[in-house]
Amino acid sequence: MPHQKRNDHFSQKLRGIVRYAYKHSAAFKNKMDSVGLKPVDIQTIKDLEKIPLTKKAELMDLQKKHPPFGGFEGVPITELRRIYVSPGPIHEPGEANYDELGWAQGMVAAGFRPGDMAINTFSYHMVPFALQMIDNSLHQIGCVTIPSGVGNTEQQVNILKTLKANAYCGTASFLLNIAEKAEEMGFDLRKDLDLKVGFVATEMLPESLRSRLEEKFGMTIRQGYGTADIGCLGYECVEKSGMHVPDDKIVEIVDPSTGKRVGPGEPGEIVATTFDKVYPLIRFGTGDLSILADTFCPCGRTSPRLVKILGRVDQSTKVRGLFIHPGQADEVVAKHPQISRYQVVITQKEHKDEMTFRVELQEEVLQPEKLKSQMEQSIRDVMKVRGDVQFVSKGTIPEGAKKIEDRRKWE
Ligand SMILES: [Zn+2]
Repeated sequence: MPHQKRNDHFSQKLRGIVRYAYKHSAAFKNKMDSVGLKPVDIQTIKDLEKIPLTKKAELMDLQKKHPPFGGFEGVPITELRRIYVSPGPIHEPGEANYDELGWAQGMVAAGFRPGDMAINTFSYHMVPFALQMIDNSLHQIGCVTIPSGVGNTEQQVNILKTLKANAYCGTASFLLNIAEKAEEMGFDLRKDLDLKVGFVATEMLPESLRSRLEEKFGMTIRQGYGTADIGCLGYECVEKSGMHVPDDKIVEIVDPSTGKRVGPGEPGEIVATTFDKVYPLIRFGTGDLSILADTFCPCGRTSPRLVKILGRVDQSTKVRGLFIHPGQADEVVAKHPQISRYQVVITQKEHKDEMTFRVELQEEVLQPEKLKSQMEQSIRDVMKVRGDVQFVSKGTIPEGAKKIEDRRKWE
């Protein structure tokens, strides 16, 4: 669709969802009323800027006050098929008839075709990604799905071999685990396995890891980007020239402090609007930083592209695909009064995320090993990811240091 036609198309869809959400979503109505806006004030995509952002923290806060969805839902809760619970905790409604297009568009762009057999190694529990989003999207395309979930690497290798699955959905780092395990089991990745296409998400994808995996398996790997709240917001095409915004969302890049759009090519927060009546999030601030490109893509798609994800707006980040924030780190530390200062450092080793709590103690403890293992357990309990604890001497952590420091370098 040419640029102007796209704009008209999305402006029309926007008018529809704003009218709908104003009527059916209490939280959205409150938001509009708080700045004196009526649905009639939103006529075009340009008018979107008038609506205040909804940040993730605000969504969590309102969900606590008005569980389960903070009044953002656009249908009665009795009409839902499922309710998902993501870390935070934060709830997402699961609709009876899944009609999001973004992930399916992304997988088709990655080379998935009807009749392909895909192993889905994302987690099926609690969170909506594997079950609601990826599983349904594979079905939309006409693929056969093997819902294998996370872990059990050896079994995953055997499944791939026995069923001759040719498509992979999961994280790139887990695909690397599968590769290493299969080699350890004596298999030739190209001869004994049939993987040809891969769709990866929920983690940053370094080019070195992508090319290593593509080379090992003889497959092509493309990535998608989105959030559990709003779904797919970008996917790569064959050109790998950034991530195309799917046709069922509007994505803006804004200055996170003002909510106003930044100029072309400038970095800012990814703010997304969906046309989903079940959960009509309008101007949802993802907290992720990126740049939007509107230039021609040789693949023929005219949708704008997110150039790449530049990191998190605040100090929150993702570790092994899971969103972590300073509030969780504080919660861990609060369980252990022996700690005087701390800093969480995120690094990467051989393409795998590592989280280390650097800790200064009030005074020498008698059994540091015991405290270390207790803390590591608290980290798992609170943050749902594994982390290491490193004791450092007093004064090592600088004054004013970030609570979570992300030292990973994105290529
Ligand atoms: Zn393209």
